Amino acid sequence: MLSHSVYNMIGRSMSRRRLVYEGKAKTLYAGPEPGTLVQYFKDDATAFNAEKHAIIDGKGVLNNFISEYVMKHLGSIGIPTHFVRRLNMREQLIRECEIIPLEIVVRNVAAGSLAKKFGIEEGESLPRPIVEYYFKDDKLGDPMVAEEHIAAFNWCSPQDLDDMVSMALRINDFLSGLFLGIGVKLVDFKVEFGHVFENEVPRVILADEISPDSCRLWDIKSGQKFDKDVFRRDLGDLMEAYTEIAERLGVMPEKSAVRPTGPKLVH
Ligand code: UDP
Repeated sequence: MLSHSVYNMIGRSMSRRRLVYEGKAKTLYAGPEPGTLVQYFKDDATAFNAEKHAIIDGKGVLNNFISEYVMKHLGSIGIPTHFVRRLNMREQLIRECEIIPLEIVVRNVAAGSLAKKFGIEEGESLPRPIVEYYFKDDKLGDPMVAEEHIAAFNWCSPQDLDDMVSMALRINDFLSGLFLGIGVKLVDFKVEFGHVFENEVPRVILADEISPDSCRLWDIKSGQKFDKDVFRRDLGDLMEAYTEIAERLGVMPEKSAVRPTGPKLVH
């Protein structure tokens, strides 16, 4: 377990690092070597294009551990990812890549925007996995786009899109099985990809994170939600939901390290 003074040291050293990018739930800092970055998981929870915002003490720690677990397993089945290694409670070392400005969503069960858009009841199984594309632009509210838009506006090449779709479907198959094994249904999820250059040849790799922030995860028996919908829809304690996933996956860090509440008086 990290002591609180170590936490403070991490905090101080962080502020001296070169900030590369600050997102809603993560911050990227320059890494120790060229071509690497440090991905820091924040406790910020946002929804509805950041209209709803809260700090959920410890969420970043859980997402760091859960995403590490998922990325490592995806790496082991041959999906190239940006993940190098976890550095500490809140940070991982990643490969720097040029993010392709698309969010790729894969759905197995109707929920969220799909259920709303097509008037399908949430929870209805889809006849086959559906892959959707969204253009990453907060100002525009991440609009859904078709392959035609991607090609016409050159957000990535047709080959890149092909690679992303086939990887997203493999990720779906693999993660559906992985979550099934812990009694959880993978309803849908979002992934992002980026380009790296290997010997000057561009290659598409999985980037960002895969965590209950970016997936819908429902208990198979009870239907209970263990994902960000708990926050979006005020369904209860988000930390309890994410902790359930971390515990079932067997990646739960020591509780005291997840919610460092400060020094305790010893009587
Ligand atoms: N998702 C995400 N980031 C986004 C939008 C969606 O991680 O900016 C995830 C979301 O958690 C869900 C899936 O993508 O697992 C599909 O989301 P949906 O289109 O239903 O949108 P929502 O109803 O979540 O706004």
